[in-house]
Amino acid sequence: MPLSKDFKEELRAKANASLQRHFQSLEEETRKTKNEPPSPEMLADFASHLKSSTRILVLIGAGLSASSGIPTYRSAGGFWRTYSDQQLAKKAVFEENPVLVWQFYNYRRQQAKAALPNPAHLALAELAKKKHGLLSVNQNVDELCQRAGHPESQIQNLHGSLFRVRCCDDECGYEVANDDVPIVSQLPVSEPPGVLDSADADPEPYECTAEDLPHCPQCKVNLLRPTTVWFGEGLPETKVKKIDEWLREGDAGDSKVDLMLVIGTSTMVWPAAGYIGRARKAGARVAFFNIEAKTAGAAKPEDNDWVFLGDAAELVPLAFEMELRVSEQSAR
Ligand SMILES: [Zn+2]
Repeated sequence: MPLSKDFKEELRAKANASLQRHFQSLEEETRKTKNEPPSPEMLADFASHLKSSTRILVLIGAGLSASSGIPTYRSAGGFWRTYSDQQLAKKAVFEENPVLVWQFYNYRRQQAKAALPNPAHLALAELAKKKHGLLSVNQNVDELCQRAGHPESQIQNLHGSLFRVRCCDDECGYEVANDDVPIVSQLPVSEPPGVLDSADADPEPYECTAEDLPHCPQCKVNLLRPTTVWFGEGLPETKVKKIDEWLREGDAGDSKVDLMLVIGTSTMVWPAAGYIGRARKAGARVAFFNIEAKTAGAAKPEDNDWVFLGDAAELVPLAFEMELRVSEQSAR
C-alpha cells in the first residue's frame, strides 16, 4: 500500500527536524573548537536564563584580569626576575628573606595599581548591583573587581588581597588596608610596570633590612605581610564559611542556585571544581567564560551548559548586554 501524502509529509518534516538538530550540534562543536563568536541563539538563551535568575554564584580567576595586563604568575612562564611565584609565595621564604619577598610584592602592587578594570570587571560589577542575590568568589588578588564598583558585601576574596597587610603571626590577628608602593622608602620598585620577566640576576642590593620593613603595631614584634594566600597555606576560614553559608541559605530555606558563572579560571583545582559541583547540585545551570576549552573532572562542561570561548573582557559584557541594557532603560 502506498504511503499517504500526509504521512510522507510528516516523515519528511521529522527527517528535516532531525537533520536540523544534527547540523546545529555540528555547528556548536565547530564553534567550541574554533573559538568562533557565540551564536545569537546561544546569547538569547543565556540572556533569558540570566534575566530570570536571582541567586547567582560567580567564580573568578586570572583570565578575568588578563586583558587588564595582570599576568598569571601561577601559569607557566609567569616569572619575576628569575623567580617563580611558587618559589617566593611561601611563609618559609618570607621568614628567611622578607626583603626579597616584599620586593616581589612591591612590584606586583605597582603592576596592579597601574592596571585598569576592563569591560568584564565593569559588566560584572553592574550585574552584582542589579542582582542582590549574586555572590562572587574571587581568586584574584588585584582588587580590580572592587575598583570597578563591585559591591564589597557581594564578593569574597578567597586568595586575599595585594592591598591588605596582616601580622605574620596568625595568633595576633592584626590586619589593615595598605596600598603603599613602595611598601617602605628604603625598598624602591626597580622594574617599570609591565615588565614581567627580566631574566637578569638580582640588581644591586638595596639599603634595606628586615628592620626597615613595616612591623605589626599591635604585637610590636612581628613583620607585616600581604594577606595573599601563600603556597601551603589554607584558604581563609571566615571567607570559606561565608560562601558555604550562602550556598546553604537560599530563598526561604531552599538552597536553590539559579546560575553559576565561571570566569577566567581553569577550574581544575579545588575549590573551583567543588563550587561548580555544589552549584549544579543546587539546580544551577553553568556558563563558562574561558580562553580555552581545557577543563576536566567535575568542572567539565555538560550538555546543558553555555561555553563562551575567548577573551573574558569581550565575552562577559556581550553575554550580559541584554540584561544590563534592560535595567538601564527601566531606570530611566
Ligand atoms: Zn602582630
